[in-house]
Amino acid sequence: METVGVIGLGVMGAPMAANLIKAGFDVVGYNRSAGPVERLVAAGGRAATGIAEVAAQADAVVTMLPDSPDVEEAVLGTDGVLTHAREGLLLVDCSTIRPETSRAIAEAAREAGVRPLDAPVSGGEQGAIDGTLSIMVGGRDDDFAAARPLLDAVGRTVVHVGTDGAGQTVKAANQMIVAGVIALVSEALVLLEASGVPTGSALTVLKGGLAGNQVMNVKGDGMLARTFTPGFRIDLHHKDLGIALDLARATGVAVPLTGAVSQLLTAARARGLGALDHSALLLVIEELAGRAPASGDRHPAAS
Ligand code: NAD
Repeated sequence: METVGVIGLGVMGAPMAANLIKAGFDVVGYNRSAGPVERLVAAGGRAATGIAEVAAQADAVVTMLPDSPDVEEAVLGTDGVLTHAREGLLLVDCSTIRPETSRAIAEAAREAGVRPLDAPVSGGEQGAIDGTLSIMVGGRDDDFAAARPLLDAVGRTVVHVGTDGAGQTVKAANQMIVAGVIALVSEALVLLEASGVPTGSALTVLKGGLAGNQVMNVKGDGMLARTFTPGFRIDLHHKDLGIALDLARATGVAVPLTGAVSQLLTAARARGLGALDHSALLLVIEELAGRAPASGDRHPAAS
């Protein structure tokens, strides 16, 4: 495997592509808007004018797109990856999408002679920049083994969790936990502020005990300063909890906390906060406490 195509050079795809270049891969990239492709070329990659051009020359293609319909279109569409792929191409979808979509894509891929893996990631933008992502992979053993050098170039904890779609199922669980932690950290911060306790020193001591978590480590200071430049957008996390709630319904599992946090994310979107980082859930909690109205108008990154 030498040439890796990357489709989707956004918050996550761009730094992942940069790490593939650093690891010695020949990276050819495509993004719907031009700016990210220019930045890829500046980082040592090559530009493609479309998905067909990426697929035709790649040994492996990484997709890093927002949602299930985007991946379906890019892979299964008339001018998509499967139409132009060489026999044996590895298709590594790192987007967070519905497990059933991953399974449908895997079936179509194998029929076209393409080797599919669902490989969603966790660790956020910083993890993508540092090449330390957690990657949960669904698919076949031999395809996982073949993709391992590529995955190791962008991740630190890379685990084969099961068959087609299993990576997406684990990612849904990941997103339930992250959203719940953000909501609780938000409630704790608003409580501390309302009590007049200095939140900076409170965060420092909380990080050292059993309450310590990555949300506080990575996003705590930004939450205190009310800076919510994404990062991971509220809109995307809302999409992910929709996936988790559908899975819960399909498996007959009650997930009351996930349901509640999903509603808080809906409230955030209704207030124009959807383009902010998911830590902006704090603004909704703050509004519920009657302390400040939550509105996207007050945050430049929201538009
Ligand atoms: P993003 O919106 O920043 O990036 C997506 C990119 O894909 C954009 O640059 C967009 O122009 C491009 N794009 C959309 N449709 C396209 C198409 N058909 N062809 C080519 N390019 C296209 O999103 P992101 O934050 O990088 O997230 C991507 C995926 O990774 C999502 O599924 C998200 O849920 C998941 N994810 C994000 C994070 C994070 O912290 N941002 C962390 C883990 C997982």
